[in-house]
Amino acid sequence: MKSGLVFDMRRYSVHDGPGIRTSVFLKGCPLRCNWCHNPEGILPEPRKIRKERSVDGRKNMVEETVGKWMSSQEVLDFLLKDLVFYEESGGGVTFTGGEPLFQPDFLLDMLLECKNLNLHTAVDTSGYAPSEVFQAISGKADLLLFDLKTVNQEKHLAYTGKGTHQILRNLFSLKKNRPELIIRIPVIPGFNDQLSEMEALCETLSRVDVPVKRVDFLPCHNWGRHKYEALGIELPEGVPGKLPEEILYKFMEVFSDAGYRVKKGG
Ligand code: SF4
Repeated sequence: MKSGLVFDMRRYSVHDGPGIRTSVFLKGCPLRCNWCHNPEGILPEPRKIRKERSVDGRKNMVEETVGKWMSSQEVLDFLLKDLVFYEESGGGVTFTGGEPLFQPDFLLDMLLECKNLNLHTAVDTSGYAPSEVFQAISGKADLLLFDLKTVNQEKHLAYTGKGTHQILRNLFSLKKNRPELIIRIPVIPGFNDQLSEMEALCETLSRVDVPVKRVDFLPCHNWGRHKYEALGIELPEGVPGKLPEEILYKFMEVFSDAGYRVKKGG
């Protein structure tokens, strides 16, 4: 059994794969997206934050630690509380973050343990990981939720701190029918909210060797300004605003016209 740094576990999740699921949030991410709404998941170590809490009607500032080392067995014990819901809904477990592939040994161990228990597994990834890690993980997960932001190398580098080369190398390395693949596109005003961006993403997907089960569009939302404040992290420059719905639907049409199943939201 391995240990991993977990910063949240959410039960009854319905947006991160089929059925009712538990989402396990692993800490650490090599990217620094301007629009990150989970900044508490980026740093690969526990971090103290100050939060406002109401006790007996009075508001107090309390200190909490984000991130806890847990053994695979501890995480499994938590996951198994909802076994009946997974079985009845066709659900399972989703590993997300941060970037779950940033803790490859722990993630691999969890995927194997889940497989032994016949639990459906999904991994939500930016795709940025060494090839051998990506291949090992994608060989064991049932479903990959693969985030694609842009195929423009310079833009990706400028807005996330990393380029696209390794991400696309990993995407194109998928060869068989397993795992199932859902592409998730965060649509960010001022970054990739142009038709030409969507057309380039759609053309790239047409060259992927595995079937794409669906393309999900994640509109930029209130991305957690309060979290940055609580963590004492400076707000990123050029934080995006809200994307008009009609533009999002236009983008979705690009993919549906090309024959993809599309969905708004995760
Ligand atoms: S890949 Fe996800 S967790 Fe990592 S910085 Fe970007 S939005 Fe945040």
